[in-house]
Amino acid sequence: MPSQPTDATQVYCRYCGTSIGHLDNLCPACNAEQNLKPRSQLVAGLLALFLGGLGVHRFYLGQWWGIFYFLLCWSGVPMLIALVEAVAFLTADKQHWKSRYGHTDGSSWFIAIVSLGLLFIFIVLIAAALIGDTPATPTDFSELLLERPD
Ligand SMILES: [Zn+2]
Repeated sequence: MPSQPTDATQVYCRYCGTSIGHLDNLCPACNAEQNLKPRSQLVAGLLALFLGGLGVHRFYLGQWWGIFYFLLCWSGVPMLIALVEAVAFLTADKQHWKSRYGHTDGSSWFIAIVSLGLLFIFIVLIAAALIGDTPATPTDFSELLLERPD
């Protein structure tokens, strides 16, 4: 019978079997990555902050029940919850996050792309808000009704 790691902070590399720390991103012996689906704390926080009302951060974390955020997004409640979660995600203890959501902080290029994407959405929203601020564009729904083909 093979001996087990002596405590929870030591595990075996899934490729070469060397004893490594349970939060190690890479095996020091064979250089293999130890986690296939790491979830970045920063990305999760940003997703919750900007797209949390749709449950996107929950889908990112692999939690299917993010669908409830999506279904209830019309009420605005998920957005408030997500805002609180965004703060919790971004301020969470790094070690705790790692042990719960993955062993790495995610690859930096992925974080960069997601961050830039969110920044872009944010700027578009700000721009839309500024443009929408100019007076005299009340939505006229009657025109839409008149355009029905029947
Ligand atoms: Zn290894």
